[in-house]
Amino acid sequence: MIAERVRNGAQRMGIELDAQACERFARYYELLVEGNTRMNLTAVLEPADAVDRHFLDCIAPIAQDLLPQGAKVVDVGTGAGFPGLPLLIARPDLKMTLVDALNKRLGFIQGVLDELGLSAEIVHARAEDFSRDIKYREQFDIAAARAVAAVSPLMEYLLPCVKRGGCALCWKGPDISQEAEAARKAIFLLGGKARVPIGYEIPDRDWRHNLFIVDKVNNTPKAYPRRAGTPSKNPL
Ligand code: SAM
Repeated sequence: MIAERVRNGAQRMGIELDAQACERFARYYELLVEGNTRMNLTAVLEPADAVDRHFLDCIAPIAQDLLPQGAKVVDVGTGAGFPGLPLLIARPDLKMTLVDALNKRLGFIQGVLDELGLSAEIVHARAEDFSRDIKYREQFDIAAARAVAAVSPLMEYLLPCVKRGGCALCWKGPDISQEAEAARKAIFLLGGKARVPIGYEIPDRDWRHNLFIVDKVNNTPKAYPRRAGTPSKNPL
């Protein structure tokens, strides 16, 4: 059921998934159900909801042609692997890094990768520390995040690790105009330039989600990100 729903839903969104990707989604679902008995991974586990809210929602940018072949992508605040793992399942050509401040779920993600025969780099860090690390600073084509923070702190997490010419890619709800407006100064200070949000739909749902994309047009000044905790407590 999972494999079929993902395949059909993706197809209706304009994304062709091969049989191996669909099988991997089905196995990921089983591992989420099993893992959820040991730790808090997600509240959304009813099969149709999990497919739509987790798998199809996370792969939506593929339909918009936002991920170049072989792109270096980081998923900041990945939790149980969203959006990074679904993107990697649908597009195994991506070079994926998954970051979270909570170590417990990262152990779960490593297990999923091993089971599915996929590889990604897993980093246990606060976004603010990750983006300061010379190994990761301004190294990624795309820094992605879903359900992690409001736009202003999110920009301070994401833009410092994006290289010029790359972008920050954020999954947002139906109305992001206020949040985006409040983040204008942050986006400018961090070297970004916001695009007009792209609305997208999940088949048979009326969610009207948006992808909010900020292009990295200038290098981020060394002062950013500020100390861990500051971006959310005191947004730019
Ligand atoms: N992105 C996943 C999703 O869409 O289901 C998880 C969302 S969950 C609500 C937020 C996640 O972001 C948590 O796993 C939390 O540990 C992580 N997070 C929040 N702030 C963070 C930070 N500053 N650095 C790293 N991870 C952070």
